[in-house]
Amino acid sequence: MALQGRRGNSGAEPARVPARKVQTQLQFRKCENSTCGQTLFVKEIEKNLHCCKHCGHHFRVGSRRRVEITLDPGTWRD
Ligand SMILES: [Zn+2]
Repeated sequence: MALQGRRGNSGAEPARVPARKVQTQLQFRKCENSTCGQTLFVKEIEKNLHCCKHCGHHFRVGSRRRVEITLDPGTWRD
């Protein structure tokens, strides 16, 4: 009984929970297609050229990444 009371009073536990949530959001992303909604790894999406492997939905891609995907490396400069 005395040990349980000590564990319940530790102040370090609540501080860890928000950090874990942030890291999880960076690793996973939900498909934006309303009929799909599958959860995907962010690295998996990037590997598949920003398309959902379940439904083929195209995620938004920034302009710099779009140029990197479209053109051969080293053939284009700003
Ligand atoms: Zn999808």
